[in-house]
Amino acid sequence: MRIGFIGLGNMGGPMALNLIKAGHIVTVHDIRKNMAEAHLAGGAKWAETPADAAKEAELVLTSLPGPREVEAVAIGGENGIIHGISKTAVWADLSTNSPTVIRRLHGIFAEKGIAVLDAPVSGGVPGARNATLAVMVGGDEQVYQRIKPALDGIGDKVSYVGAIGAGAVAKLVHNMIAIGSMQLLAEAFTMGVKAGVPAEALFTQVQNGAYGQGMLLRALPRMIFKGNFDRVSFALKLARKDLGLATELARENNVPMPLANLVEQDLLTALAHGLGELDSSAAFTVQEDRAGVKVRAS
Ligand code: NAD
Repeated sequence: MRIGFIGLGNMGGPMALNLIKAGHIVTVHDIRKNMAEAHLAGGAKWAETPADAAKEAELVLTSLPGPREVEAVAIGGENGIIHGISKTAVWADLSTNSPTVIRRLHGIFAEKGIAVLDAPVSGGVPGARNATLAVMVGGDEQVYQRIKPALDGIGDKVSYVGAIGAGAVAKLVHNMIAIGSMQLLAEAFTMGVKAGVPAEALFTQVQNGAYGQGMLLRALPRMIFKGNFDRVSFALKLARKDLGLATELARENNVPMPLANLVEQDLLTALAHGLGELDSSAAFTVQEDRAGVKVRAS
């Protein structure tokens, strides 16, 4: 496939190299030309502008910092992708972008009959280097099927999520969990270390415990999606007791834990609403009530 690739940073650089290795004919562009050295050595062509990178391409891929850069590269000035891309080509944005922005750009390209997909990736630089990324694709499903063989060159978990913007929504859900959990791990491990247990020992025990065995993620389809909160395996009142003991231990050790204290308030809310005898996963409903939406699925 003839591919135009724009944005050769930490993620885009190795992704574009993998596409070259997979035998695609690749034209590259970045505002920093030195980022393209390995690609040009590997046989890629250089384009001076996004429009030029798009000109001969059947597929245009972008891996840019965020919404502002994606918009500038897509439609900015006379050098945007939209001014070079052919009507039969597809533009897929691999950046972590705003669903609203990609939907708007999709609309602008659609007026010219050009297909746009959002295809954010997950797996970090190692995933980009080893072509083992997850790629979360939104947009027209037939267009997705057409370009999937090329996306298989950058990831081994390429999948269709739904209409335009759905990939970006899924990616934000993923990153919110990943980023939020890391801060929660930071609270828990600072509390644990300051309370006198070495980090390695804590890590081993967390890994051996239910959380480390992936139980929390498995609870989503088993409990939350089904609204199955009266099948109790760990009662909510016990979860509140445990979190209460943790926040108490943190106070004893002068460890600020803003996230854990907020979560404790949710558990207290659930108890106040009489959910204490239900499974601890029923605390999920406190956020569902706040948000006015249920997270259920078959
Ligand atoms: P990066 O900053 O390393 O790369 C972005 C590249 O875009 C740079 O080479 C920069 O020169 C280029 N660029 C910026 N503005 C440009 C413009 N107007 N025209 C042409 N080129 C331009 O960022 P990254 O870490 O490679 O991330 C790229 C995207 O992938 C981001 O949206 C990021 O959120 C997402 N992402 C990153 C990771 C990660 O682990 N780094 C993982 C998954 C997804």
